[in-house]
Amino acid sequence: MTQPKVKDLLPIPELMEMRRVLCVQAHPDDGEIGAGATVAKLTRAGADVIYLTITDGGVGTEDVSITPAELARIRRGEGEEAAGLLGVNEMIWLDFPDGSCLELAPVRERIIKAIREVRPKAIMVMDPWLPYEAHSDHRITGLAAAEAAMLSAFPHVCPQHLAEGLETHPIEAVAFYGTSRPNTFIDVTETWPLKMEALSKHKSQFPGGSLEMIGAYLTAKAYEHAAGKGFEMAEAFKVLTPTHLHFFEDAWQC
Ligand SMILES: [Zn+2]
Repeated sequence: MTQPKVKDLLPIPELMEMRRVLCVQAHPDDGEIGAGATVAKLTRAGADVIYLTITDGGVGTEDVSITPAELARIRRGEGEEAAGLLGVNEMIWLDFPDGSCLELAPVRERIIKAIREVRPKAIMVMDPWLPYEAHSDHRITGLAAAEAAMLSAFPHVCPQHLAEGLETHPIEAVAFYGTSRPNTFIDVTETWPLKMEALSKHKSQFPGGSLEMIGAYLTAKAYEHAAGKGFEMAEAFKVLTPTHLHFFEDAWQC
């Protein structure tokens, strides 16, 4: 008897079929850097995309004359302008302090609450298992979002949300951007210029010629991701179901 393949038992969801997506980001520019062209493609196709930003971004500068509070205010404005260009419907700001001091449990609780409020089909977030990722805001945010996706349907997890009138909500897919193990490549040839324009709105993050440098890097990666696939430019994701995220030995190679 032929045994079914593990990957056939648990297929990878189609990201572009998700009509409501919660895009979780540690800082106000992460979503644009990792997935901006896909966000624009989703909203053009009629999907609702809601941003959930974990930190206030207040330490993202080498300029000591700007206070964290002032930078947080500037970055919120930049983030709203950039996300607006991509057609994002709504933005939720949690305002945890920026700067590698996030703790997992409170961030996870707030993401579970956002999932129960927003009720998305899928969430997007940076891959917390990216080798050599030194920024703990990125690791904690990605891990908290992955755990939240696994737990949001369980009523005894954060039961205070139910006491507040919210209901549990299952997630169908998690799309990790900034991943070294992609399994999904979205054709973003048409929306790439929009991503670059959105990135340019984060002026505080790209002093001097650094916007040109990161733009060139991301563009080169987009061509690499699309190579041999029949389109020009792609953003790459590791898309998994919540089932893949718990005791699933093959998830890393799905
Ligand atoms: Zn970041």
